[in-house]
Amino acid sequence: MKTELFVCDRCGQRERLDRSKQHWCTRCAGKRETEMRPARERPFSIQPQPDARR
Ligand SMILES: [Zn+2]
Repeated sequence: MKTELFVCDRCGQRERLDRSKQHWCTRCAGKRETEMRPARERPFSIQPQPDARR
């Protein structure tokens, strides 16, 4: 099984999970079901772009 870093859209929780499956954030569970997505699909949340400053 291949794992990948998943990130929650709402709370930003990060977990290394099986990339072939769909995952739901455990922290947001109960409030609202939130899907966790592979971190590399949204790299802007991992590290700010160095060319962002002007
Ligand atoms: Zn969450």
